[in-house]
Amino acid sequence: MMEGTPLAARIRTQVADDVRELGGVGLATLLVGDDPASEIYIGRKHAAAAEAGIRASDVRLAATVSERELLGMVEFLNADEEVDALLVQLPLPVHIDEDRVARAIEPLKDVDGLHPENAGELYLSRPRLVPATAVGVMALLAEYKIELTGARAVVVGRSAIVGKPTAQLLLQANATVTVCHSRTQDLARHTLDADVLVVAVGEAEVVTADMIKAGGTVIDVGVNRTESGLVGDVDPDAAEVAAHLTPVPGGVGPMTIACLLQNAVQCARLRRGAGG
Ligand code: NDP
Repeated sequence: MMEGTPLAARIRTQVADDVRELGGVGLATLLVGDDPASEIYIGRKHAAAAEAGIRASDVRLAATVSERELLGMVEFLNADEEVDALLVQLPLPVHIDEDRVARAIEPLKDVDGLHPENAGELYLSRPRLVPATAVGVMALLAEYKIELTGARAVVVGRSAIVGKPTAQLLLQANATVTVCHSRTQDLARHTLDADVLVVAVGEAEVVTADMIKAGGTVIDVGVNRTESGLVGDVDPDAAEVAAHLTPVPGGVGPMTIACLLQNAVQCARLRRGAGG
């Protein structure tokens, strides 16, 4: 099992040191509406930020807020000198254009790495602020010394927040990358070939043990709430075929939070002109 919790704890300790060295870091989160899952994620991010000594403000707007009002709040937080990093929790209500909101965030405060400027830098192999889950996946692969150069990597899922940035980072690490999605035909044909398989779909057991290459590495990003509790996208029986598999919970989840805090530090450095 590729446990994320111990590595995430080490990253968070490093973040706390960095925050002290920088003389403080400010994070603002913006939550629209009262989606229970989003409330849980925001709560976890704030708890982790507080533990690392990051000043965090929790801005909440009603689900009925207009796009114009939300953009006004983003503008306000962009201009707030106390805010180094700004996170808008997704998903947003359907009447709000998520893309427009991502574009409104000041790029150097874009802790989720969704602004086109940051996504573009990543695409051009100059990663600056990269979505935390993708960073976390790569950190786990590095921690467990998984060889990526020349490896066949398959990413299932092509979202802007997980699948695409993970595929980009794997490509930059010299893997040969295939990206699969809902229109992919014969998914197993691709996954069976994967030395490194990253699954970010949001559907329990979309990948079963018979779809995994023997001795491969499987990173399960999925989080699905079922009657039997939280499960990933990969059937846990995959552990009998794969050499490495991340557990759910306790794999990618804690890494995402830790790397988000790392990104907040990176925002603060960039804003002080000391970042990469
Ligand atoms: P999205 O819904 O944005 O993207 C899902 C992707 O999966 C899409 O690209 C979709 O394809 C693809 N897909 C859907 N069904 C299939 C299928 N049957 N076969 C192959 N591909 C399919 O989700 P996210 O990327 O935001 O999140 C994915 C999962 O990861 C979710 O469970 C989410 O909760 C979890 N997550 C976990 C995090 C963590 O820290 N552990 C952090 C972020 C997300 P198409 O593009 O064609 O629609």
